[in-house]
Amino acid sequence: MFNKILIANRGEIACRVAATCRRLGIRTVAVYSDADADARHVAFCDEAVHIGGAAARDSYLRADHIIEMAKETGAQAIHPGYGFLSENEAFAEACAAAGLVFIGPPASAIHAMGSKSAAKQLMEKASVPLVPGYHGEDQDPALLRREADRIGYPVLLKASAGGGGKGMRVVESGDAFEAALASVKREASASFGDDKVLVEKYLTRPRHIEIQVFADTRGDCVYLFERDCSVQRRHQKVLEEAPAPGMTEERRRAMGEAAVAAAKAVGYVGAGTVEFIANQDGSFYFMEMNTRLQVEHPVTEMITGQDLVEWQLRVASGEALPLKQEQLRIDGHALEARIYAENPDKQFLPSTGTLRFLRTPPAVQFMRGGDAHGPAGVRIDAGVREGDTISPYYDPMIAKLIVWGKDRDEALARMRQALAAYHVVGLSTNVAFLQRLVKSEAFRTADLDTGLIERNEATLFPAPAPVGMDFIALATAALLDRETRERRIDAADQHSPWTHGGAWRLNGAGSTTYRLQSPDGDIDVTVHSEAGRRRLSARGKTLPFRASLRDEVHTVDLGERTVKGQCHIEGDTLHVFSGEGQCSLVLVDPLLHAGEAESEGGKLAAPMPGRIIAVMVEAGATISKGDALIVMEAMKMEHTLTAPAGGTVQEVLYAVGDQVQEGAQLVTLEQEAA
Ligand code: ADP
Ligand code: ADP
Ligand code: MG
Repeated sequence: MFNKILIANRGEIACRVAATCRRLGIRTVAVYSDADADARHVAFCDEAVHIGGAAARDSYLRADHIIEMAKETGAQAIHPGYGFLSENEAFAEACAAAGLVFIGPPASAIHAMGSKSAAKQLMEKASVPLVPGYHGEDQDPALLRREADRIGYPVLLKASAGGGGKGMRVVESGDAFEAALASVKREASASFGDDKVLVEKYLTRPRHIEIQVFADTRGDCVYLFERDCSVQRRHQKVLEEAPAPGMTEERRRAMGEAAVAAAKAVGYVGAGTVEFIANQDGSFYFMEMNTRLQVEHPVTEMITGQDLVEWQLRVASGEALPLKQEQLRIDGHALEARIYAENPDKQFLPSTGTLRFLRTPPAVQFMRGGDAHGPAGVRIDAGVREGDTISPYYDPMIAKLIVWGKDRDEALARMRQALAAYHVVGLSTNVAFLQRLVKSEAFRTADLDTGLIERNEATLFPAPAPVGMDFIALATAALLDRETRERRIDAADQHSPWTHGGAWRLNGAGSTTYRLQSPDGDIDVTVHSEAGRRRLSARGKTLPFRASLRDEVHTVDLGERTVKGQCHIEGDTLHVFSGEGQCSLVLVDPLLHAGEAESEGGKLAAPMPGRIIAVMVEAGATISKGDALIVMEAMKMEHTLTAPAGGTVQEVLYAVGDQVQEGAQLVTLEQEAA
């Protein structure tokens, strides 16, 4: 086994790998960019090396420099994590040439699976079932169009070199083909430096079911069962689980064996995932093989009790696979939710910012040897701590929340509970969306397919409800608590006016009133106090009110109901978390803010920092609501910004190639009279 390895990655996966190394007594070297000098993975590893600028190509993608640093620090091997250099065959080769072990498959296997089209040609020969489509070399647009017509619409255009859900477009009809092809090619060359595409029949209501495989250098290869990753947005996984609901032993074996055949066909070594797309009737087709550890590997660890990073390290150091196929078992059910800095209400646009407040449910951190799920059945893999920043440079994932239960229902209940205790202030997250998702009828009953989110839009993206009494009561409890604490501090000061009466008293008769600004208007709250009893009045209702605070959790007794939650106060803003969700309220001085109104129309602002890659309108153009105006690229994704209302374009303030800040006004519009 190795004594020391370098981890050529960042964020949660760098920490995840380091956690297993620590358990096995292997020293770790972290690498970091300018943007990551204070990142958790740097603190987590035994040593750290600065490797360059914030942009990935100036740091995490500098293959030669990273190899040099590995040699300089005396590391014997490099773990690439996922993303970055993990599927880069030149990097794998360069490691070997430098006398370092690349903890991953041989370069030849990465090469064979690197292009989705070439992989499909190989799989065809290995008799692995394929989705009907075209995966040839000839990229003549007219030929691609003819192939699409032959396959029959809808078809899916995919970048052969694609990954992470990028470089894919569904084409509903021949008319839309040309535009979609241009868009995929643009995204593919920007993200992968290769604009080759393939065409596939677009399956309706498919499930994404993938098989974890593992091979050693001695010719043995096993499968560690399946993961169902059907719940996706923009072809990116949101929730993953194992085992797949409804999977029969027979099909599991068939898929497992097909996956092992796929791995063997390319001389695979190490951890890999063979992704299949499955019809509702269970028929399945090879989609691609990811030649690395997968983001969602923890669900497999939770149900098998195996530490896949430990397996990777053992195999890479020449040992045999720790277990044989017949020794592997499934125990219980695991779910993973990816917690992202993003805004589900704005087409899941990534958001950036500082995690000013972060509270998480009781959980084990990363994989524990021997005890796969920990006492609470909850595991968190995170690369960030409170105070850390989610920057625009890298993937906006905040953490992975993984739960285990003896069956799916138990796992679901734990997931609900854990999400309710995951509190973030400072940027938009998908936590509330995930809460709705795991509670949705479709997910609860495992009515799974890749269109689950779109199909359930009405329940998953509800119109904002008026702020409920729970939030009002929790906010009030937090404000009263703050005043009590401030009074105590002031009381210590002899000259404070508070020490000399006049103020609201805890035990005497009196009342205090707050005005809270909420998304649905101002809310006036009054707390009446008499003979040690309190009542709370808001929105025309009066309820008994008794509040206590323990370990940051407010418990408010409202007579018939008790509500619990947390409140984080920043200046005049209250971020309130109840089990049901989050809301932000602003304490206002009723005298200051009378009659203020604001108008938002007439502007198109950048929803996030990024680069302008296309401008579709010019000054003077007449537009209708929903028209595409500008395409931005941010976090390697294209985002089309559309007209918020119909009218005339007054001015376009940026041009193609410009870098813009979040909130920058891009276009001014003269709105047509309503
Ligand atoms: P998987 O296929 O492993 O479930 P995805 O396809 O969602 O995962 O994401 C993997 C890809 O997304 C990587 O190839 C990489 O491009 C990108 N990615 C996601 N998270 C990160 C991260 N923390 N660091 C670097 N790249 C990442
Ligand atoms: P990536 O490399 O980005 O992970 P994949 O080829 O694995 O790309 O596809 C990602 C997702 O896109 C799948 O999980 C599935 O939801 C969807 N998808 C891919 N191919 C098809 C298809 N032929 N029909 C329907 N959906 C598909
Ligand atoms: Mg994939």
